[in-house]
Amino acid sequence: MALPTKLLIDGQLLDGSGLLSVVDPSTGEPFVEVPRASQAQMEAAIAAAKAAQPAWGAAPLSTRRERLARFADAVAQHTDELARTLVMEQGKPLEQAHAEISYAEFFLRHFATAELPVEIVQDDEVLRVEVHHRPLGVVAGITPWNFPVLIAAYKLGPSLLLGNTFILKPAPTTPVTSLMLGALARDIFPPGVVNVVTDANDLGALLTTHPDVAKISFTGSTPTGRKVMASAASTLKRITLELGGNDAAIVLDDVDVAAVAPKIFAGAFLNAGQVCIAIKRLYVHDRVYDALCGALAAQADTSVLGNGLDASTSMGPLQNAAQYAKAQCLLDVAASDGTIVTGGIEARNSGYFVRPTIVRDITDGSELVDEEQFAPILPVVRFNDIDDVVSRANASPYGLGGSVWSGDIDRAYELAQRIDSGTVWINHHLHFGPHIPFAGAKQSGYGVEFSEAGLSEFGQTHVISIAK
Ligand code: ADP
Repeated sequence: MALPTKLLIDGQLLDGSGLLSVVDPSTGEPFVEVPRASQAQMEAAIAAAKAAQPAWGAAPLSTRRERLARFADAVAQHTDELARTLVMEQGKPLEQAHAEISYAEFFLRHFATAELPVEIVQDDEVLRVEVHHRPLGVVAGITPWNFPVLIAAYKLGPSLLLGNTFILKPAPTTPVTSLMLGALARDIFPPGVVNVVTDANDLGALLTTHPDVAKISFTGSTPTGRKVMASAASTLKRITLELGGNDAAIVLDDVDVAAVAPKIFAGAFLNAGQVCIAIKRLYVHDRVYDALCGALAAQADTSVLGNGLDASTSMGPLQNAAQYAKAQCLLDVAASDGTIVTGGIEARNSGYFVRPTIVRDITDGSELVDEEQFAPILPVVRFNDIDDVVSRANASPYGLGGSVWSGDIDRAYELAQRIDSGTVWINHHLHFGPHIPFAGAKQSGYGVEFSEAGLSEFGQTHVISIAK
């Protein structure tokens, strides 16, 4: 690896107080050691970010835009190295790793040019009232292990654009690419503006309770999101939480099965199912149920599992041992509550591999349907009645995404309006972008990411009211 993998604190690349051993999930063996920060180092990062913020926030917007664009350039220039490292630490196939880096660059370029204009909400003979957005201060981005580069980029971009300084804390199982981003950031941003600090799941609470951290932008599981919300309460921090999902896809009786099956498959099994907005429950009308189960199983059987650096690999392993153990338990649930059409543990000597698994004759009430699996095991549930399937889809405490699949857009549109989730896709799933608001309903999140609404969550609303 040519890029350094050190902590970035106050513009300096540093060793930690210990080491994190990072496992390649395709072998289950460590492939590199990187620094693990101490509590004192996290406190130093917070102090550096706090000290750097006034000057960064006061810098002309054009300067902040120019630095963000340069950071996007640097990411682009190091795409190959970042992508290959991402495969090694995360497991996804190289093509998907390249796509993640490209999307990270795309988000950075979007935020480098995004506008959050001053709004004039009243201008008459009595008053002129303007709404501005001032920096909040220090923002902490706490990221998960499924898309470590993309998620870091889309938290860093809006933080810095609005004049905040930033601390990135990646998940302990995928710290390497985040440290590389830190090495790139060091040459572009003034000291303290960007800091990258790793931990072993032990320093997040310091960020969420520290009085000098103004906002937490968190992506991770719902149980950890609850902890973040609770501990942020002590200092009334701003929080944006993007949490778990149990997205239902509803397939109506008028679909062209051959046409939708590959799209549904991709929506469920991208990144080995480890996507917050993947299809997690597939509700299929009785009339097309057998045909779609068969088509999905046929597609699953063409998947080639392996090390993501092998060109033939179409699906990588699960990212970590805990997730692999959970998937093994869910395969037992699948066998007892339904029928496994195809899939199961991939017979290999090493690595956390689960084949794409299609489970039929299963219904609500099974853990595999009711809980988020975050693994390539898809329950396919039969339905006959639209009202019934809507109430089943909406019964979940989650509400991140959902989709409706039909040959008749009007019918699908009518149904989409009844789904309790932040996003509903019609005849696709998983699509998102920096100009599209992304929000979780119910226990899938708090606040909005992306779009002008998401950007404004990185600023303090600041009204200037002028008497005339
Ligand atoms: P998982 O449970 O799937 O490993 P988490 O949601 O716990 O995922 O992890 C997402 C991120 O949250 C990681 O960076 C992790 O280190 C961090 N984290 C874990 N515990 C806490 C906590 N109590 N406060 C803040 N962040 C935490």
